Amino acid sequence: MIDFLDLKKINFRNSNEIRDATLRVFNSGWYILGKEVDEFEKRFSSYCGVNHTIGMGNCLDALILIFRAFIETGLLKEGDEVIVPSNTYIASILSITENRLVPVFVEPNIDSYNIDPQLIEDKITSKTKAILIVHLYGQVAFSEKLKTLAKKYELKIIEDCAQAHGASLNGVKTGNFGDAAGFSFYPSKNLGALGDAGAVTTNDQELADVVRALGNYGSHIKYENLYKGQNSRLDEIQAAILSVKLESLDGDNDRRKQIANYYKKNIQNDKVILPKRVHEDTNSHVYHLFVIRVKNRENFREFLKQKNIATDVHYPIPPHKQKAFSELNENSYPLSEKIHKEVVSIPCGLHLTDDEVEYIASSINQY
Ligand SMILES: *Cc1c(COP(=O)(O)O)cnc(C)c1O
Repeated sequence: MIDFLDLKKINFRNSNEIRDATLRVFNSGWYILGKEVDEFEKRFSSYCGVNHTIGMGNCLDALILIFRAFIETGLLKEGDEVIVPSNTYIASILSITENRLVPVFVEPNIDSYNIDPQLIEDKITSKTKAILIVHLYGQVAFSEKLKTLAKKYELKIIEDCAQAHGASLNGVKTGNFGDAAGFSFYPSKNLGALGDAGAVTTNDQELADVVRALGNYGSHIKYENLYKGQNSRLDEIQAAILSVKLESLDGDNDRRKQIANYYKKNIQNDKVILPKRVHEDTNSHVYHLFVIRVKNRENFREFLKQKNIATDVHYPIPPHKQKAFSELNENSYPLSEKIHKEVVSIPCGLHLTDDEVEYIASSINQY
């Protein structure tokens, strides 16, 4: 069977460095908020080209605390509206509702699957205060049009970078397009830890300070609490491992692009719609996932399963149709619903050999 993902194989490539890093933390006797987190934050800031990185427990917390920090600093308040793509992973939406802000869904562009900037302006009201963009599947969702719109209506831009570490547009990396960004280092992401981990990036010193405090009980100074914060910190062990893995992120992204380009050139089947890169910049898509569309998804998946190829679906149910958001179930976002019905992710991870990539492409051509 060709696995959809094989994290054991992927992490084994750095097994010695990961063991050394882990042992270093073990021997240090210091496990929370120490040298390793400091070091990774510095390295990640430098990698993204931002002034501040704040390690977090995961990406959902990172996004929640960005909005929370805007509330604490008086820039947002309960009931304000946040524009967000209607097709995304549910975490993006939860970060808004968790803060009693109101998500306002905007349909995607069918080529990029990212929020369609043309449709945003119609949804802006006097309560709209921010846009949460999601670089879905690894493709940059930012554009000049979006920037102009945000400026015109004085909206904050927040990025969900969980799927797009290292992607860039004209030299600007994800995490550096807006006012603040949330990253996930969940093990399967382009930069993955060996457990839960995340970060906030920003160029705003005040915001960085507030987010950092909010993730540490609302405290800047030990035992002094400015805010009713929570506990969401990046572990020393995960930080040490992430510093190791950051070294290979660009190379890993290049390999993903290579696999994606092979698929795009060699998969030729009228029943299959391939993903499109909508920006000229070849680094604007880092293929966290290679997502195709087919009409009869279960047939297609079964066909590939018979060929010993595992597939996955990102995602089968759009956020507004989830039971958790029953108040939104009656709303209609036809494009998102169509996308969620037709998408299939085929393997494009770093565990694949060239032979396997060729086999996957030729198998799809036989469908
Ligand atoms: C994975 C993911 C998240 C959540 O990341 P966690 O670290 O698991 O909280 C958020 N948004 C998107 C788009 C994701 O893919």
